[in-house]
Amino acid sequence: MNFENIMEEVYQKIKTINDPGSPASYIPELAIVDESKFGVHISTNNKENIGLGDCNEKFSIQSIAKVLSLCLAYRLQGDQLWERVGVEPSGTSFNSLVQLEADKGIPRNPFLNAGAIVISDILLSNLENPKAEFLHFVQGISNNKSLDYSSRIAESEKAVGYRNIALCNFIKSFGNVANEPCDILDFYFDLCSLEMSCKELSNLFLFLANNGRSMSTNKSILSESQSKRINALMQTCGFYDESGEFAFKVGLPGKSGVGGGIIAIHPDQYAIAVWSPKLNKKGNSFKGMKFLEEFTTKSELSIF
Ligand code: GLU
Repeated sequence: MNFENIMEEVYQKIKTINDPGSPASYIPELAIVDESKFGVHISTNNKENIGLGDCNEKFSIQSIAKVLSLCLAYRLQGDQLWERVGVEPSGTSFNSLVQLEADKGIPRNPFLNAGAIVISDILLSNLENPKAEFLHFVQGISNNKSLDYSSRIAESEKAVGYRNIALCNFIKSFGNVANEPCDILDFYFDLCSLEMSCKELSNLFLFLANNGRSMSTNKSILSESQSKRINALMQTCGFYDESGEFAFKVGLPGKSGVGGGIIAIHPDQYAIAVWSPKLNKKGNSFKGMKFLEEFTTKSELSIF
């Protein structure tokens, strides 16, 4: 498969399309990002690396980090984890409070804010220094010590994070988090503030295309079965309430973030990252979705 030509062709086409979206505005620091940025990068299991546009510029990965915190919690707790968070698509917005009432504080899936807050609580309970140990885990996957949090982004979100504060307190009232909400939220905002480039992102996530084993260090990050399950969750729940649309149009497991990034995985083939800050109405990168749709169509490779 000649990915280079397809990447180039699709990148040039999507670069010029009219983008009706707008950057996330509810986190002040995200609202001021240069909205013309557009980068793509693919890392393959055959050790090919192809990037275009702003693929080396770091951006805020936001919710994409929820996959990584879930992986670490899964390593630490195994299947016990699923007693506290579900594995069903929600059909409600990522920061919805409504569903939690009916579900008695058990979030539908780990990629909703509510779910990621419960996962953060699990990490807090299991790690001595969660902030440092989580970063160490992330850096170790692709052996990249330059990956880091952004205190600027974390502070910006924390200052206006009323909804997440409400969610965390609400879950606490049902007894589904053990730690103090302020500590859980501090960690949650930190993990959402992770920054990386498309190149770093696709390199990092390649382990999910390689049955849970890091391509950089050959160490096992997750078992094969755990890796399959994380991919399955990304497929069914990775794009807010547009997950069906993403599966329909792109046909790969993936995860988006409100920073405009998307990571998508083709098991046994590649990990591909896209960044374009303007989001569609459902909160997913407009150009990111279009690029990936066109890319899997042109390459005629998807999991279906
Ligand atoms: N930090 C963001 C929030 O909690 C993450 C949302 C996202 O990327 O989906 O609202």
